Amino acid sequence: MSLIVHKYGGTSMGSVERIRNVAKRVAKWHAAGHRVVVVPSAMSGETNRLLGLAKDLSPDADGRELDMIAATGEQASSGLLAIALQAQGLKARSYAGWQVPVRTDSAFTKARITSIDDQRIRADLDAGMVVVVTGFQGVDDEGHITTLGRGGSDTSAVAIAAALKADECLIYTDVDGVYTTDPRVEPDARRLSVISFEEMLEMASMGSKVLQIRSVEFAGKYRVPTRVLSSLTDPDMPLAEEMKSGTLITFEEDEKMEAAVVSGIAFSRDEAKITLLGVPDKPGIAYSILGQVAEANIDVDMILQNQSVDGTTDFSFTVHRNEFARTLAVINDKISASVNPRDVLSDDKVAKVSIVGIGMRSHAGVASLMFKTLAEEGINIQMITTSEIKTSVVISDKYMELAVRALHKAFGLEIAAVKV
Ligand code: ADP
Ligand code: ASP
Ligand code: MG
Repeated sequence: MSLIVHKYGGTSMGSVERIRNVAKRVAKWHAAGHRVVVVPSAMSGETNRLLGLAKDLSPDADGRELDMIAATGEQASSGLLAIALQAQGLKARSYAGWQVPVRTDSAFTKARITSIDDQRIRADLDAGMVVVVTGFQGVDDEGHITTLGRGGSDTSAVAIAAALKADECLIYTDVDGVYTTDPRVEPDARRLSVISFEEMLEMASMGSKVLQIRSVEFAGKYRVPTRVLSSLTDPDMPLAEEMKSGTLITFEEDEKMEAAVVSGIAFSRDEAKITLLGVPDKPGIAYSILGQVAEANIDVDMILQNQSVDGTTDFSFTVHRNEFARTLAVINDKISASVNPRDVLSDDKVAKVSIVGIGMRSHAGVASLMFKTLAEEGINIQMITTSEIKTSVVISDKYMELAVRALHKAFGLEIAAVKV
């Protein structure tokens, strides 16, 4: 008898009919002798609706109160799912994060899980129950409700699976696995039957929202066998078939899929770029700029410093688009006076496109094929960063979809992998 954690996203929980299907699917697993913990997201659109109400009242509302509001979405869907499970004749009980408790730090709206108490869940499982635990939320040391950042139910599920030492964590969503790129942008995207943990980590951190990055980090740290699969199939499909469907995140490099050089293309429109022109080229300048940005709790993504000319240099960096206004305010209030840039340029209409693949370690010419492809489409590259297994570029966001489709084709992702 194995212990399995199921996670169902917003679309999968999107209506009473869908919730009933989730309950049927869970009942099938339970009937086959598995112990099941289910982690649901809020019904689709609900988190946006709730946060939208808050925004109407105040554009920069207090994080603690935002979490208080947003967490109700998962509380409602969890209670509804427990009722649907009971209607299937199962014993089921739902818990909010604070009841488990799922402990987090106090970084409201982007809290990190610090520990999960497994006692209550285990006691209920031992009593033959299906346990439903809210995704996306926890409680800090002072008892305040926190949330884990958008898409955070993935992280709740994998963290709970790690805490329970579950046999598998199944992430049920509205696509039937991880694709070579978002199938909404490239209809010819291909499902991968396995993806290496490292590639999944890069895909998620470069913007593929199929899994929240922290969930992938948890899966890696605690070696949680994690699979992404569809919740929209017939809930009565044979269990053996379902167990092999979707995309498995593998920790074994040898098992890596089809030996592709580039396995996937990730993108993010959530980018904004800021350039400080003509800052002094001397020790401590990067710290003077980015130290203040970090002080304001703003995450910096890409950083670029140009060659010095006449003792001055240009310094560019990118932040999440949501933090754009705040970053400009920090520059105005805290940086400009001391660093004295000649000018500050800013652009919140940029996007990041990344190619990801373990094969890039051992193949030359991958990045140059990327640059050639973008050049042929007339797309200007504004910034470039690389790691061992990815190359990312910042481009104007109006070309993002074109770039993704052109690169998908150039790297032969819709068919067998291309040899570079
Ligand atoms: P859920 O509500 O189940 O958490 P999300 O909307 O967060 O679902 O994530 C699933 C979506 O991720 C898909 O509908 C798809 O559009 C998008 N996506 C982005 N990149 C990929 C990819 N490489 N493979 C599959 N889906 C992707
Ligand atoms: N409901 C939350 C969100 O919309 C968490 C999640 O769906 O994973 O971001
Ligand atoms: Mg999600």
